[in-house]
Amino acid sequence: MTGRADLVVLGAGPAGLAAAWYAARRGLSVDVLERAETVGGMAASFDVAGFRVDLGSHRLNPDLPENILADLRSLMGSDLQTRYRNGRLLVGDRWVTYPFKPRELAKAMPTVPMARAAFDALATTWRGKKQIAAADSYAELMRAGFGPTMYKQVYEPYAAKLWGVTGDDIDIDQARRKAGSQTMWGALVRSVRNSIASESLAYLYPRRGFGQLCETLADAAMEAGARIRLGAAAEHLTVDAEGVSVSLARSEFHGSAAERGGWSGEQHWAEGGTDIRAGHVFSTIPVPLLARLTSPGAPYEAVEASGKLRFRAILLVYAVHAGGRWTGCDVHYIPDGDTPVTRISEPANHRFSPDDPTERTVLCFEIPCDIGDDLWAADEDQLANLIRETVRRLGLPQLNLEWVQVKRMRQVYPIYHKGYREALADLEGWVESLPHVTTFGRLGLFTPDNTHHALLMGYEAADALGTGQWDQQMWSEARDRFTQHVVES
Ligand SMILES: Cc1cc2nc3c(=O)[nH]c(=O)nc-3n(C[C@H](O)[C@H](O)[C@H](O)COP(=O)(O)OP(=O)(O)OC[C@H]3O[C@@H](n4cnc5c(N)ncnc54)[C@H](O)[C@@H]3O)c2cc1C
Repeated sequence: MTGRADLVVLGAGPAGLAAAWYAARRGLSVDVLERAETVGGMAASFDVAGFRVDLGSHRLNPDLPENILADLRSLMGSDLQTRYRNGRLLVGDRWVTYPFKPRELAKAMPTVPMARAAFDALATTWRGKKQIAAADSYAELMRAGFGPTMYKQVYEPYAAKLWGVTGDDIDIDQARRKAGSQTMWGALVRSVRNSIASESLAYLYPRRGFGQLCETLADAAMEAGARIRLGAAAEHLTVDAEGVSVSLARSEFHGSAAERGGWSGEQHWAEGGTDIRAGHVFSTIPVPLLARLTSPGAPYEAVEASGKLRFRAILLVYAVHAGGRWTGCDVHYIPDGDTPVTRISEPANHRFSPDDPTERTVLCFEIPCDIGDDLWAADEDQLANLIRETVRRLGLPQLNLEWVQVKRMRQVYPIYHKGYREALADLEGWVESLPHVTTFGRLGLFTPDNTHHALLMGYEAADALGTGQWDQQMWSEARDRFTQHVVES
């Protein structure tokens, strides 16, 4: 049986759900297909030991257009809490408040590295500008902007852990898209601002975990008439001049999605069948996957290009700690190259929720890795030992570990290795030539963008579709704006 929809959205993460809700409110018939057992994508939440936990530390940047912020506030009310960043970062062997506060940083940093970092900072003012302009890699840009001491202590080991590539092999775009500021002076100005105006440390976080954002959007989209099918993987797209035929199949998560109820959309399977004829498709799935699923197929260069785009995977180790909260911090950032852990977050400290148990807490250890490497293959006991050893060696409070739970995510960080630009341009050129198909979202555009960017992309795409007539000019202008997105660390 073939169903019909004005719009089919692939993926029920923030980008797909924002677009689905907006388009449904405009009166379009919308089908959302999601391979996983729940909504949210990388921004989903789930339960561990009585806590809602996220897929790594998540905060919503309030720097959103007013209309989107107003929509979220009207949907979530007081559940969307304003919180203030309260993290710590390891510099050398000291933990300092992060985002940095200048006086504390100066006091806490060991004398010699501090003097060296200060000298570097002075040196970057008179010779840095030229070097920044001439920089050709992440390493050159960050060294020119922050000086060799900060680069060696913080940025070099962090880049190696996060992306699995040395700073010299990383394209300059990665630094431009990732770092809040690219010079020591820029960072100092920001840190002074942070210590004067606490508003610059504010973020938004839902009372019931970050995933509540997408769960609420999914409810709103369904209320507006959209159909959401979980455990439903898009398998094939056939594109022609009038529209797109989408074939879907029950994914490996279909059984558990159906058991959970809610948005499982069982009745939608019965009504909608496994083929949908769509006027337009919004795809938020990884763009190389879109190339594999679509016919007419991508030309040789685009297929080859999609093989050159690499993603970093991540292991998330959830540790249940007995004896109340572990620390008062929301996140510990660990650039140190001797442990593969990049961040430790404590979800209960991201929100105020009377539902969270008080006699224990859950910590999330983020460990970027590559699929198939030793870390990826490590079992729970090995990972429990790894996090115990990390906590002990870094002088963090003792961990009263009850048990661990592990999640493995395959495609998380787009890696901007040198040469990625040409590969991405080939692939994007092909996608743009497809009528009635638009790709966006973090993996759809192969960008490190965050949730607030993904929501904005969803709104912009729905705007460009209007009541069914795709406005390519409007979308091209929006795409230009997306290239200015910067992800705060
Ligand atoms: C460790 C970590 C920390 C982060 N921290 C933050 C943070 O602090 N703040 C912040 O704002 N953002 C953060 N992010 C980023 C944020 O999670 C993403 O920007 C956001 O989820 C992207 O939304 P999206 O809709 O573009 O993509 P996704 O969330 O990836 O959604 C895409 C969806 O497509 C589905 N899909 C894939 N293939 C198919 C198929 N064949 N058929 C149907 N569906 C399919 C996937 O299951 C997924 O649900 C973090 C991400 C990670 C991994």
